Amino acid sequence: MKKTLFTAIILSAFSLCSFSLLNAQFDLSGVIWDQDEIICKEQESAIAHFQTPSYRNQFASLTDIHYQTMSWEIDPAVKYIKGVITYYFRSRSNNLTQLVLDLSNSLVINSVERKGVPLSYAHSADQLLTIDLDKTLNEDDFDTLTVSYEGTPPSNGFGSFETGTHAGAPILWTLSEPYGNRDWWPGKQDLIDKIDSMDIYITTPLDQLAASNGKLISINEVGGKLVHHWRHRHPICAYLVALAVTNYAAFDQYVPLPNGDSIHVLNYVYPETLAQSQQAISSTIDIMNFYNEKFIIYPWADEKYGHAQFGWGGGQEHQTMAFMGGFSFSLISHEMAHQWFGDKVTCGSWHDIWLNEGFATYLAGLCLEEFSQNQYWPQWKTSTSNSAMSAPGGSVYVDDTTSVNRIFSGRLSYNKGAYVLHMLRWVMGDNDFFQAVRNYLNGAGDFGTTPEFESYLENESGLDLHEFLADWYYGQGFPSYHLQWSQQADSLIITLGQTQSDPSVSFFEMPVPILVRLNGVDNIFVLNHTTNNQRFSIFRGSASVDSIGIDPELWLLSKNNTIEQVITAVDDADKSDRFDVFPNPAHDFVQIISTKSVFSVEVIDVAGRKFKAPLANNRVDLTEFNPGIYTLLLLDGNQKILTTKRIILS
Ligand SMILES: [Zn+2]
Repeated sequence: MKKTLFTAIILSAFSLCSFSLLNAQFDLSGVIWDQDEIICKEQESAIAHFQTPSYRNQFASLTDIHYQTMSWEIDPAVKYIKGVITYYFRSRSNNLTQLVLDLSNSLVINSVERKGVPLSYAHSADQLLTIDLDKTLNEDDFDTLTVSYEGTPPSNGFGSFETGTHAGAPILWTLSEPYGNRDWWPGKQDLIDKIDSMDIYITTPLDQLAASNGKLISINEVGGKLVHHWRHRHPICAYLVALAVTNYAAFDQYVPLPNGDSIHVLNYVYPETLAQSQQAISSTIDIMNFYNEKFIIYPWADEKYGHAQFGWGGGQEHQTMAFMGGFSFSLISHEMAHQWFGDKVTCGSWHDIWLNEGFATYLAGLCLEEFSQNQYWPQWKTSTSNSAMSAPGGSVYVDDTTSVNRIFSGRLSYNKGAYVLHMLRWVMGDNDFFQAVRNYLNGAGDFGTTPEFESYLENESGLDLHEFLADWYYGQGFPSYHLQWSQQADSLIITLGQTQSDPSVSFFEMPVPILVRLNGVDNIFVLNHTTNNQRFSIFRGSASVDSIGIDPELWLLSKNNTIEQVITAVDDADKSDRFDVFPNPAHDFVQIISTKSVFSVEVIDVAGRKFKAPLANNRVDLTEFNPGIYTLLLLDGNQKILTTKRIILS
C-alpha cells in the first residue's frame, strides 16, 4: 500500500522571527564560498586522473581480492616508489588462468612470483599487468602471488603521486580518485570489487611520519629507517588507498560513543601550523557526533578517523583519514560525510555519483542547519539551489560516464544532487527520510545504486517515488510556479499553475508549501500539486489575507515564480447578488438559489483535488462523493468564480 504524498493541511503556525545562533564556537565565515571551492577542487583532481576510456580493465570482475599486504619505501624528498604487494584473491570464474591488474607503464616490474617461484607476465602499453597464473583456477578457488616493482610515477596535472615542500620540509602524498592508483601501485581500479582487508608497511627516513588507512599498529626503527604499520580490516576501494609522508606533528581527539567507548581521531598536520590546525580541526568532534546520531555510527569506529595535511589545495576522502590542504568547517564536514557516503557505501557506477557527492554536499549543508540554523543554513539553501538552477536543463543522473566534467559536475552531481535529497526529505518527512538513509547505509553493502536507494526510500515511507525520480533524477530542469489567489466568502481560493524549464519533464508533481499571512499571522499550507492550474480552497473564516508566498523555507527547486491576486466576478458583483446552497449538511445533492445564473460547479476536497459535479436545474448532484467537507466553486459562463460555498456531506 502506497501512501499519497500529502494533503492540504496546516502544518504549523509559522513564524519568520529569528532564532539565536545555536552554536557559535566554529568559524563558519566563508562556508558558502568554501563549498564552491571544494567542488572545484574535486573536479580538477578527477579530471587530472581521468583519461581515455581505455582505463577499463575488462578482467576486473573475474577476481575477488580478499587481502593485500602492501610494503612501500618512500623518501618524501624523492619522487620515487619501491613496492612489494602480495595479493590473496578468489577466482570468480571457471578456467581462470590470468590475474590482470592496472599499472602505469612508467613503473618497472622487478618480479612476479608465487611463494618464491617466478611467474611470467606481460606489462602492456595499455597500462595492464597481465600475470600468467601457470595453472587454472575454478570459481571460488583461492590463489596468492607477489609483485615487486619500482619507478617514478607519471605526472599528470594534480598527480596521483606528488611531492612538494612546506616550510622547507619535503612532503610526498597520493591522491587516486578515480583512476590514479595504477600510477603508483598495481591493483584493480574499478567499482566492482573492494579489497576486503589489508596491511600497509611504509618505510621512511627516521624523522618522518607516514599517514595511511586504518589503525596505526606500530612504528619501528629497522636498519636506520622507520617502518609504519597500518592495518585496515574493512572493505576499501582501490582509489581510497593512500599515503602521505612528511615531518608531521600528530595530535589526537576522541569522539565519545553512547556505549562509553570513543572513536580515536588521529591528526597529522604540518608542525609550523600545529596551533592553527588544532583550532580549525576542533569542529571534528561535534560534526562526527552529529553524523553518528543522524545516520549510523562512523563505519570504522574500531580503527580511527583522522586528517592528514597535504600539498594540494582541496580535500580527498581517503578511507579513515581525509587528506586536506587546509582545514575549514566545510571541507571537514564534506570529507567526513564521504566516510559514510562514498567510502562505506560507494556509488556502484559513475551514473550514481550523486550517492557520493550529492550526499557529501547535503551533509555539509545539514551541519549548517544543525550548527547555524538561522544564518548559514538559509544561505546554503539559496546558493546551492541557485547553482542547481543556473541552467535550464541537466539531470542528476549522469548520462555520459565517459566525460569527467559531466560526472563531477558541480551544478548537477553535487548541488542538484544535494537538493534532490533535500526535496526527498520534504516529500517523505524527516523521520522516514533519515530512517531510510540509515537503512541504506546498513543494508546496501559495498556499492550502492540509485534503484537500490529508491527501494530503501520506498520501503520506509510507503511512497511510490518512481515519478519523483523520473522528474528530479532522470528528468531535467525545474518548475516555475504561477499562483493566482482570491478571497471568496470565507475561503482563500488558489489556482496553482506550473511551467517547466526543460521539455523532458511534463509536470513536477510536488507538495508545494505556501506561506499565507492571515490577519498578521503566518501559516504554512501544503498544496499537493498534481495537475496544472489546480484549484485549492483554504478556509480563512473572517480573517483576511495580507500576503502569500511560495516555498518560504526553500524546500523545493523552483525559480521565476509569480504570485497574482485575482479580482473575480464575485468581488465585482453587486453586493445584492445572493447565492445560497441548501441543505447543508447535505446528503446526495444541494440546490442553488441565486440572483445570477450559475453555469457550472467545481467541487474541491480537503486534499485539493478538483472534481466537476453534474448541475441541472440549479441542483448539484453529489451522489458520487464520499462524506466529508468540500468547497463548491460556483462558476459563470466564462469559468470565473461567482462565489464559494463550504458544505458538509454526510
Ligand atoms: Zn566530495
